[in-house]
Amino acid sequence: MNELTHKQSQCILVSLRLEPVRGLHMIPASFEYSSPKTLSEAISLLETSGSDSKILAGGQSLIPVMKLRLGSPSRLIDINNIEGLNYIRESDGFLRIGALTRIVDLESSELLKKKYPIINDAASHIADPTVRNLGTAGGNVSHADPANDLPAAMLALSAEFVATSSGGSRVIKAKDFFVDAFTTALKHEEILTEIRIPQFTVGNGGAYLKLEKRVGDFAIAGVAAQISVTQGVTVAKAGIGLTAVGSSAIEAVEAEQYLIGQTLTAEAISTASKLAARASNPGTDLRGPGEYKREMIIVLTTRALKRAYLRATGGAA
Ligand SMILES: Cc1cc2nc3c(=O)[nH]c(=O)nc-3n(C[C@H](O)[C@H](O)[C@H](O)COP(=O)(O)OP(=O)(O)OC[C@H]3O[C@@H](n4cnc5c(N)ncnc54)[C@H](O)[C@@H]3O)c2cc1C
Repeated sequence: MNELTHKQSQCILVSLRLEPVRGLHMIPASFEYSSPKTLSEAISLLETSGSDSKILAGGQSLIPVMKLRLGSPSRLIDINNIEGLNYIRESDGFLRIGALTRIVDLESSELLKKKYPIINDAASHIADPTVRNLGTAGGNVSHADPANDLPAAMLALSAEFVATSSGGSRVIKAKDFFVDAFTTALKHEEILTEIRIPQFTVGNGGAYLKLEKRVGDFAIAGVAAQISVTQGVTVAKAGIGLTAVGSSAIEAVEAEQYLIGQTLTAEAISTASKLAARASNPGTDLRGPGEYKREMIIVLTTRALKRAYLRATGGAA
């Protein structure tokens, strides 16, 4: 794990509900507030208002960080009044999710339930209804908390992130997006506008499983598995993402590569699960010892692959 800045470590403590920081404030430092109506206005505000300005989406991570004075942005640029950033649809070969789509909409979307249940699984495991009503897909991935649930699903799905600035848009692959704890490949002047995922046809299935102390908690460990199966038997493509077992969401590349060409026997699943655990680098904290979390990655990967296979082949679950 790379050395974290003091601010990043503090954020991790908070997100993992560990030892509260002493001398806490519960009121943010003062800040300027803007509520642009268009994307170009928001981008121009980002460009002109200094490097410590911040996009405000659902506020479910940013506001707690500000209240604890772990971050004190000079200006919040609220993107909630910008139209056209809240959608879930398939077009031109991609499932497209607008950055401002609420987590509750990911949870209830019939399209996702039917064709991309891994996203549905992950969304429904996030926090509680209040947080899911306000929190956004874009905010969840941009915050890049290693314990957030959507990043692992996005890695398993080989998602791409569309970052928009005054120079136009660029596409960042999920494997390049999650750089470190609370750090993404987004530049300060860029706004994440869309998450896009290669569209699925038949023979695809995915699942996200999370171990948590209590319902609504951040993960002790989580696993996202997505597979594509040809003729109901052979794995043609596999994606595996891990939550809360490293300094960022982790793609279990060795396990993915091993699965290609395999028939999903108990032995193949067991080997892939052990390879996934090998990709993890969990620390010991109040959620449990690192070794326990690594074991849990084996258990969760096994179950997620079985569920993904059932879904890919039209079975239940
Ligand atoms: C009590 C509680 C429990 C929680 N439990 C979980 C959990 O179990 N699992 C989980 O995954 N999450 C959990 N969360 C976090 C929650 O999912 C947040 O909603 C999410 O992490 C951030 O989304 P947001 O829209 O609220 O973003 P904000 O808080 O508004 O922003 C978060 C960060 O992302 C940046 N940002 C937001 N949108 C964009 C964008 N479009 N472009 C560029 N940058 C952007 C902001 O500038 C900020 O730095 C929990 C939160 C709370 C308060």
